[in-house]
Amino acid sequence: MRSSPRSPRAPQPCIIWHRHSPRGPADYDLPVTSAPDDLSTPDAPAGPIVIIGAGPAGLTAAYQLGKAGRTATILEGDKVVGGISRTVERDGWRFDIGGHRFFTKVEEVEALWHEILPDEDFLLRPRKSRIFYDGKYFDYPLKAFNALKNLGPIEAVKCVVSYAAARVRPPKDQTNYEGWLVARFGWRLYRTFFKTYTEKVWGVPVSSMPADWAAQRIKNLSLSSAIINAILPNRNQKEIASLIEEFQYPKFGPGMMWEKCQELVEGQGSKVVMQTKVVAIAHEGGRATAVIAEHDGARTTYPADEVISSMPFSQLLMAMDPPVPANVAKAASDLSFRDFLTIALVVPETDSFDDNWIYIHSPDVEVGRIQNFRSWSPFMVKPGQTCLGLEYFVFEGDRLWNSDDADLIELGKKELGILGLADPSLIETGYVVRMPKAYPHYDETYQANVDILRDWLAHNAPNVYPVGRNGMHKYNNQDHSMFTAMLTVENIVDHAGHDIWEVNVEEEYHEEKDGVRPGVATGTGGTRGTGRDAPIIPSTAPSTRSA
Ligand SMILES: Cc1cc2nc3c(=O)[nH]c(=O)nc-3n(C[C@H](O)[C@H](O)[C@H](O)COP(=O)(O)OP(=O)(O)OC[C@H]3O[C@@H](n4cnc5c(N)ncnc54)[C@H](O)[C@@H]3O)c2cc1C
Repeated sequence: MRSSPRSPRAPQPCIIWHRHSPRGPADYDLPVTSAPDDLSTPDAPAGPIVIIGAGPAGLTAAYQLGKAGRTATILEGDKVVGGISRTVERDGWRFDIGGHRFFTKVEEVEALWHEILPDEDFLLRPRKSRIFYDGKYFDYPLKAFNALKNLGPIEAVKCVVSYAAARVRPPKDQTNYEGWLVARFGWRLYRTFFKTYTEKVWGVPVSSMPADWAAQRIKNLSLSSAIINAILPNRNQKEIASLIEEFQYPKFGPGMMWEKCQELVEGQGSKVVMQTKVVAIAHEGGRATAVIAEHDGARTTYPADEVISSMPFSQLLMAMDPPVPANVAKAASDLSFRDFLTIALVVPETDSFDDNWIYIHSPDVEVGRIQNFRSWSPFMVKPGQTCLGLEYFVFEGDRLWNSDDADLIELGKKELGILGLADPSLIETGYVVRMPKAYPHYDETYQANVDILRDWLAHNAPNVYPVGRNGMHKYNNQDHSMFTAMLTVENIVDHAGHDIWEVNVEEEYHEEKDGVRPGVATGTGGTRGTGRDAPIIPSTAPSTRSA
């Protein structure tokens, strides 16, 4: 690694963070892989930096480099910036790829949001989301009285009987998520509140999902404890509620943040090159030397001393030239994703609702969640109407993914009609957006595969720095993407020595220890998790949908 002319970073001042995380510690063990040796020559001139991707990670990296007096070339394959955190604009309607809440426990990320956008561009929005099932809205998180009232006395009694039966004769196999849930809630509640939605999101039967991720995360969860918690709010619950009941949101959506960041980055002297897809990374003598990208069928070579990459980790490795060995290529191709499509429908304001989104548990429709963008920001919609974003969790190439937009819009209208949420004949227009690789998939081998890719990179191109969500194959939010980018820039310009793979923006910080910053772990191994929860889906699990 070539160094910047700046001196190595002094020990970081302590930053104290006392908030309690609404979650416990995250659930993945960390690989014990040592960080690559620092190959820098302290006073070498700063060479060109190429950043792959103009999403939150890529643009944050560019912006932080700019503040440190360095410029970069950012190569973005798409027509718009923001990546998955973009805001789509069609005919004056603005909508997200799923609504994007701005909420973080990392002070530096919070500060950066407000450095990029002035305070007046942020709205503080109340969070409301409910579960829609059998024509009724259930509070989310579930509240016992509301749930019982909605279920009605007969169904409520059946649920209690089903719960009692499961207590007396619990499922023999509780190693899978279905057995684990049924043992704690009974079959009827499991079917109402867990099965359908979980299967819509992950695309595999709940019975094929291992229980251990849930068992580690949701210790002592049972119907009785859920009811007690619902009836008797305690101090901890109040704290949790205050963390999740409101969130910040840029008034024109998250894309506004990234469009502004692009402007700032260009003002600093960096170049954002759009519709330019990285197709190869040349490496030689144990370092990356250039990034090759395609625009309108023409290839350009961008010489690079450092490469910050937010493109999918697997694709990064597959783009190496000369190619990676067969075992590394296999590990890369075994990393998989869940994909996403949204059907945005313009409906009369009378069909609006207060929720930011509702979870659709009804098994008779395929839609998984419905966003109401009027509830996110009145600046996103037009008077008298709203825009509902129907979210479908899909696999690239499956039946829904390959359907025509016109057919998908008809499907969306039909499903809103079935749910009784809107009259299909009054839906004026609709738009479809497909987002490939929206969710890095975790299967039983993903961690080992990621380790293989990391190891190859550490030995063959240590000046390539993976950052962000798909960039590191981590199922995390914008704040994680941004923080990994911020720390990577510190590594490049200041030789800060952060282990980016240890960044955990979900971590609970009770006290500051020995200069450890919130979100940054110091070790190179151990049992601390580094991310949000996601189940491990066995690669052999059958799909719940036909292709
Ligand atoms: C449905 C949904 C809801 C979400 N809700 C929230 C939320 O409420 N709050 C929150 O903070 N986060 C949320 N997230 C997560 C958030 O979207 C991501 O964490 C964030 O966008 C990741 O940023 P990134 O820069 O790492 O990656 P991305 O957003 O994926 O950006 C990567 C960029 O790289 C570009 N790229 C890829 N390959 C190449 C290539 N070969 N050449 C050139 N460019 C390339 C892509 O086009 C893209 O622009 C949500 C995600 C989803 C799917």
